[in-house]
Amino acid sequence: MQEIDLTPDCKACAALCCVLLPFDAGEAFGFDKAGGEPCRHLAGHACGIHAGLAAAGFGGCVRYDCLGAGQRVVQEVFAGKSWRDDASLLEPMDAAFRAMRRLHEDYALLISAARLPLLEGEEAERQRLLDLLNIGQKATAPGLAAFETGPLPRAVKAFIADLKARLRPRR
Ligand code: SF4
Repeated sequence: MQEIDLTPDCKACAALCCVLLPFDAGEAFGFDKAGGEPCRHLAGHACGIHAGLAAAGFGGCVRYDCLGAGQRVVQEVFAGKSWRDDASLLEPMDAAFRAMRRLHEDYALLISAARLPLLEGEEAERQRLLDLLNIGQKATAPGLAAFETGPLPRAVKAFIADLKARLRPRR
């Protein structure tokens, strides 16, 4: 089965992070912005200060990584549509992006866990969880909602917590 692509593709997205996520003025961002409010630097789906983000006080934008969730939400769940053309999409896109981001974060954690000295049973469980996260079909809004409220996120969290506990250096 093809692996989930964790590399962001902003050109295939609709600037979801720049509209959906909130941020506070400070070291990482130049002003306050509420979730669901398009950033004032956004022009269409592109950042108007992209070349000078850090210098303009938006290092938080440089560091942010959606892990490939944004383009999947736009292309798979909403067939390439944008909240720019239909404001009623903002709310369902927000819900789908939150769930997809969680799914991609869990997937990234399990990929990273391959670098650890796993026992045979742990590796089998890692593979089982990866397969459950990567259903190999187009994601849908109901599917993402079911994922978010279902047992899988808790199973990944418990697996990672157990690994950490076993591998923690003993004093
Ligand atoms: S400053 Fe640019 S990258 Fe950061 S949220 Fe605004 S438009 Fe997006």
